[in-house]
Amino acid sequence: MTAVATRVYRLGEFHSFEAAGRRFLYLVPAGAVFELDDAAAKLIDRLSSGEAGHDELIQELVASGCTYDDADELIAELYHSHVIVTGDVVVETLANPPADFPLQSLVMNLTNQCNLSCTYCYEFGEDKVATPEGKPKFMDMETARASVDFLLSQSAGRKSVHITFFGGETLMNFPLLKSVVAYATEQATAQGRSIDFSLTTNATLLTPAIIEFLSENRIGVTVSMDGPPDLQNKLRVFANGRGSYDIIEPRVRALIANHRTRPITARVTLTSGVTDVLRIYKHLKHDLGFHEIGFAPVTTSPDRLYSINEKGMDGVLEQFHALADEWLEFALRGEMHGFSNVSDTISELIQGVNKSHPCGAGLGLVGVGPSGDLAPCHRFVDSDTHSMGHISTGIDREKQSDFLTRGHINSKYECHTCWARPLCAGGCHHEAFVRYGDTGHANLHYCDWIRDWTDTCLRIYGAVSAQNPMFLEKFAERKALS
Ligand code: SF4
Ligand code: SF4
Repeated sequence: MTAVATRVYRLGEFHSFEAAGRRFLYLVPAGAVFELDDAAAKLIDRLSSGEAGHDELIQELVASGCTYDDADELIAELYHSHVIVTGDVVVETLANPPADFPLQSLVMNLTNQCNLSCTYCYEFGEDKVATPEGKPKFMDMETARASVDFLLSQSAGRKSVHITFFGGETLMNFPLLKSVVAYATEQATAQGRSIDFSLTTNATLLTPAIIEFLSENRIGVTVSMDGPPDLQNKLRVFANGRGSYDIIEPRVRALIANHRTRPITARVTLTSGVTDVLRIYKHLKHDLGFHEIGFAPVTTSPDRLYSINEKGMDGVLEQFHALADEWLEFALRGEMHGFSNVSDTISELIQGVNKSHPCGAGLGLVGVGPSGDLAPCHRFVDSDTHSMGHISTGIDREKQSDFLTRGHINSKYECHTCWARPLCAGGCHHEAFVRYGDTGHANLHYCDWIRDWTDTCLRIYGAVSAQNPMFLEKFAERKALS
């Protein structure tokens, strides 16, 4: 008797879902979607009621109309894809990225100053991790030049790299931004490589000349904006408490009308009382004309007045479902929809991501502050506790290794039995720090929410792959903003 014939099979680790009348599995060890045909579905249903031997499965498949060879081949395929397994299901560990993992992106915080005083700001608000006291408020050209050189030297082997400009309010240091674009482009070109740029802004300082520069240089723009006047003015205020909507509205309109080379994105921070997702989407997309809108619940301790409670998060999820349904209708017609929370996840599913870490922070991406301090990402910039070296001395490999080891999915034991881990990997390090005091803690306060949302995106993915598969190709290269 062969080894195969004596095998006893059980189900592997997957999440099943249905879409467009078909059955799919999301295979956790592979981070891949697998469509079940009738025979495979029968086999899965059979194993759902208990384990079975190889010959027994073959007999049952043959009795239901398969040839012996087809049944044997199907079992082998499901076994090699880990849909069915022998023995106990073992959580496969993901390897650590190599110590010299090349950089892909640099987030340059050009200033830690801001002309707004948004109540929930992670940089200035009650949950701030930054300790900017005694450090420069604005980055100078010497630090900026060293940062560009650092990115190019630490990204060996990559044909193209990326710089994101950030703040504070990024445009408070626009002259430096212009110089960096010129210098970085010149340096990358001299090396036969390409570099592209994006920035995040509150839009208050946009002028026609700035918009023209951004458009001419193909600089991607994300505007932090919370919606129509009553919602924008709740927390996105100037120091004197005055709301910012009236200032930014004409500037945003001018940006969208005149920046023709890249899509313009709005990023909305959802807070208590600012959870009207559908109304916000409608205003930003249809009244103002943003191409894409992404929503993120505020990163905060649960006891802050602006944090969203469970009921509020349920309401957000319900509205996400409604927008996701609309996204699907658009996709089936071959049209792009602007709800980027779906687009980003679809893109990750297509690329088959299986994350060891929730994001690129401290790995392919680092942040650099005005002083030249390096940090895992823009949210940790200027924080002594989270510093990861300095631009003049490079990445502190010991600190980086500590950050990455703690943030690795292998260290997050609670996540090891969760089917959503290939995409979630425990969630944002910064949020984990604010919530649990440890960047490596899994964000366990929103697991049910994440799993529900991931299931929604899987069903959309399944429906589009069944009914308009070519449409998915548009997302193969997409990079999510974090
Ligand atoms: S944080 Fe929660 S949802 Fe995310 S992988 Fe871990 S257990 Fe799953
Ligand atoms: S997900 Fe969190 S840790 Fe990662 S880059 Fe974004 S803010 Fe930083």
